[in-house]
Parts: sequence; structure tokens; C-alpha cells
Amino acid sequence: MTFTVHGLAVARGIAIGRAVLVASSRIDVAHYFIDPARVPAEIDRIRTARNAVVDELQRLQQSVAQMGPNEAPHELTALLDVHLMLLQDEALTSGVKHWVTERLYNAEWALTTQLEVIGRQFDEMEDEYLRERKADLEQVVERVLRHMKGAASPVSPPPPSPRRSQQELLLDDTVDVPLVLVAHDLSPADMLQFKQSVFAGFVTDVGGKTSHTAIVARSMDIPAVVGARSASQLVRQDDWVIIDGDAGVMIVDPSPIILAEYGFKQRQGELERQRLSRLRHTPAVTMDGEKVELLANIEMPEDAPAALAAGALGVGLFRSEFLFMGRQGKLPGEEEQYQAYRRAVEGMQGLPVTIRTVDVGADKPLDHTHRDDAHLNPALGLRAIRWSLADPAMFRTQLRAILRAAAHGKVKLLIPMLAHGREIRQTLAQIDLARAELDNLGMVHGPIQLGAMIEIPAAALSVRLFLQYFDFLSIGTNDLIQYTLAIDRADESVAHLYDPLHPAVLKLVSDTLDACRALGKEVSVCGEMAGDVGMTRLLLGLGLRSFSMHPSQILAVKQEVLRSDTRKLSPWAQTVLLSDDPSQLMPT
Ligand code: PEP
Ligand code: MG
Repeated sequence: MTFTVHGLAVARGIAIGRAVLVASSRIDVAHYFIDPARVPAEIDRIRTARNAVVDELQRLQQSVAQMGPNEAPHELTALLDVHLMLLQDEALTSGVKHWVTERLYNAEWALTTQLEVIGRQFDEMEDEYLRERKADLEQVVERVLRHMKGAASPVSPPPPSPRRSQQELLLDDTVDVPLVLVAHDLSPADMLQFKQSVFAGFVTDVGGKTSHTAIVARSMDIPAVVGARSASQLVRQDDWVIIDGDAGVMIVDPSPIILAEYGFKQRQGELERQRLSRLRHTPAVTMDGEKVELLANIEMPEDAPAALAAGALGVGLFRSEFLFMGRQGKLPGEEEQYQAYRRAVEGMQGLPVTIRTVDVGADKPLDHTHRDDAHLNPALGLRAIRWSLADPAMFRTQLRAILRAAAHGKVKLLIPMLAHGREIRQTLAQIDLARAELDNLGMVHGPIQLGAMIEIPAAALSVRLFLQYFDFLSIGTNDLIQYTLAIDRADESVAHLYDPLHPAVLKLVSDTLDACRALGKEVSVCGEMAGDVGMTRLLLGLGLRSFSMHPSQILAVKQEVLRSDTRKLSPWAQTVLLSDDPSQLMPT
């Protein structure tokens, strides 16, 4: 039966495909596609771990049998029997095999997927005793997973298989229909793993529009919906679903009429993209001749070609933290970072690359084992520059790598989350020290322009202080809104209060732009607001001339720029700025 799940629209477009549920197990597991040649080995890995658990349980059974009746309660014996039975049950083994063979899931993913499938069957059972056996099933599967984790894995998760074109997907009979990812939650590190893979769209239960999960989804340029609450509970593995990334809904089990309607919309979207692609080489100049700089936000050096293809004039934000994620706490060394920054710089073929120093913490944990839930307010905690300054040696490793990459092209260094003059001075001292360290070692490094992000209200209110130290500023509206309105950007339950048009937010943005203009300093916006076509005219009217966004949004924003006349937009923007309810004055 068809039903619709509502969430928040994150990345535009329509995706139609079969649901792949990523179960949220109590044990974190890697999710990746294996090479078809690895299927037998992967199944073997599961068999070995399962046999090890069977042995373990049988040994326990024997020792229980040797105990006296007072030492070993009857319940324990019964429980071990149940666990052994579940472990050897056909539904589990054949199901797991199916996911590995047919879908090419890695062993851990296949196990958690089948756990979810059987778990739901347990949930539906009338008999309470049987229903409660779900917990036992979870325990045995976790035992198997733990064994697999402990056993030296023959492959540490290999790099995900490269993204395949729709054409290749259709030719490959193991993956003959587009797949759509449905999960309770996906960390930015998870998303990164999926970035190269085959998914045509995705939906998560949690997350806000500017959560980092949503941001990575946008960079993948596939339709996505977040904050869809119980989506992952309502959808079953392999259900047909439609994701409408424009409306923020997912339609499950659509009827043929609905499928046809969305198929049509999908084709229309494709035509619109083709039309926009003609603007690629058109300079972004307003009708009254104002030149506008459209830059790209990237997460990995490999994103540089997409930035160039979209006609970006450089990288306005390279979120370097993605190099640090999903590595089980082992941070990249100087050489590895240098090579990555160098690839980004060379990939941009002489255009400037703004590298932001690492911004982990809050909704960007390094990996599953480093989740920041332990802190009461992770977004207000040891994040971004605070994290870097707390470990100066680690920070200088990154700074040296960036300074060295600057010898290969135009590099701008951007510091996130600064609020305090003392932090600014500490940061500058570390940069000087990093430079001196390179000089001492006789290593080549290049000149950099130095910038700060304005993303804390305190920073926006002391822009003049910042401009004493920095060559340029970049306004991170995602955090600026979060901290101004006290709305967790990753929390879907307060997403309706997250408002880029709040008068306080607009005033902080506008004052920052004015201060930079007065002192002749460069300023850009690199938060999601910069890539929102509904905001382009307002930002132009407020005086912004440099926008940084995901490459996929550049052409649509350019189209807005080409249709704008700043002579008309400036006075209008002032009325919006002074309004108690700016949203009323925005064009619909
Ligand atoms: C921002 O806060 O607007 C920003 C660009 O940084 P991030 O989204 O990575 O926090
Ligand atoms: Mg930020």
C-alpha cells in the first residue's frame, strides 16, 4: 500500500529505486560494496565467525552441564539453547548469503541487514515469549560481529567501488535497479563512504537541513531527505520508494500512476540541468554589470573536477576534516595531508583553493568510536579551532602540510569557529611556528592569504577586531544561524525554528559585509545560504559579491545572478533588513 513519509528537503531532484536499509546496530559496522570476486571469501568470513560463536556457546553449555543444579540455573541452559538455535537458523544464514551474493554487501552489513529483517518478523509475532526472542537474536548477531571485528579482516574496508553511471548499473545484473539508502542516522563519515557508491538517493530519520550529513548529501548531488523521523521503521528492505528531494518526501510502494508521474518529473529535472549546463562558461555578472564570484565547497581533493565542471572560480571552502574522519582515531600525517591538499590545489588548475583547518566535533565526529555524545553540548564544546588549539602539535602538522601545498598554487588558509582575540593570537602564533619549523627543515612552502570564518555571533559582533588580523573573512551561516538562534542545526525536532531570515541573522550578516567593504577586505558566504537560490537576490542586495557553495548549486545561483539588478536589489534588501518579518518580503 502506498504511503508518504515527510521530512526536510535537502538535495534536489527525484530518485526512484529499491530501499536499502542500513540498520542501526548497537555495534558500529562498516558498510561497503564488495567486488563480485570476493563473494565466496566474504561468506566464508561470516561462516568462520559464526562457527567460532557456535564453539564458544557449546563450550559454555558443557561447562554449565558440569555445574551442580544450584550453580547453573535452568534459565541459563535454556538461553544457550535458544542462542545456538538462532545462530544456526536457516533464515539467518540464507538471508545473509542473499545480501552478500545479490547485493554485494560486505559481511557485516549483510548480517545487520538480515538482523533487521528477522527482527521485524519477531516484532509482529503475537506470542510475547517469541517476540522477546528478538533481543536474543540481537545478542548472537552482535557476538558474531564482534568476532569478525576481532579476527584480522582480510581486507580493511576497501575503498568503495567507484560511482557507476546509470548505464553501467543497468548493464550489471547484480545491481539492476537504482538503490536508495534509508537509515536512521548516517554520520558524515558514513556518508563519505557512500559518496563514491551507487546510491541514487537517500533518506534519514534524523538530521536538520544544514546538518553535516545533509551537506555531504548535497555534495553527492543526489536527491535526499533528512529528518523523516520514523522512515527507517516504516520502510522494509527492497521496498520500492520515490524520493522527492524538492518536496522533502518519500513515497513508499508507489502505484503505477504515481510512478509514471514522478518518472516524468525526473526527466523534466534532467532537462533543466542540461539547460543550466549551458551557463557554465558564462561569467556571473548582474544585469547592471556587477561581477560576482561563484566558488565551490568541497570535501575531498577528488571533488575538484566537479568544481571545475560547474564553472567555479576557485574553492571557497575545502572542509579538510573529511580527511580526518573514519580512521579509527589515527589522524593523517603531514605527508598524507600535504599530498591531499596538493592534489586539490593542482586539481583546481591555478584557481585559488581555500583550505579550512580541521573542524571536527559536534555533528562531525572523527568516527563512531569518537562520538561526541559524552559531552552535554557538543556544538558548544571542543570543536574546530578549539580542538586544534588543544593539540598544537597536531594543528601544526596540518598547518605545515597546507603551507607546503601553497608552493603549488594559490592557497588561502581559513580558520573555523574563532570567537576570541586570544584564540586569534594563539592561532597566528601556531602558523608562524609552523612556518619556522619548515624553514628549519629547509622545506619549501608558499605564501598564503589568511582568513577567518564568521560563524559565532561574538565574531560577527567584533568583525573589526578580526579584520586587524585577517586578509579575508568567510561567513559560515550554518553555524551563525545555529548559534544566534540557539537551534541545533542537526536536530530535526527544532528544524522549523532554524531560520536564515531571522532579523538578527540578517543583521549579523549585513554588518559583517558592511565592515569588510568599509575596510576594503574580501568577504564571502560559504554556508548553505550561499547556494540557496531563494537567498541569492537578498545577499546580492546586501552587498555580497562572493558566494561559495556545492558545485551542484553553482549554475542555478548563476542563473539568479544573471537575472538580478543590484541597483534595484539594494534598497529592497534594506527594507528586508529592517523588517520584523523579513520572510513576508521575500519573493515566492
Ligand atoms: C558554516 O557553518 O556555515 C560552514 C560553512 O561550516 P560547516 O557547515 O562545515 O560547519
Ligand atoms: Mg561551520
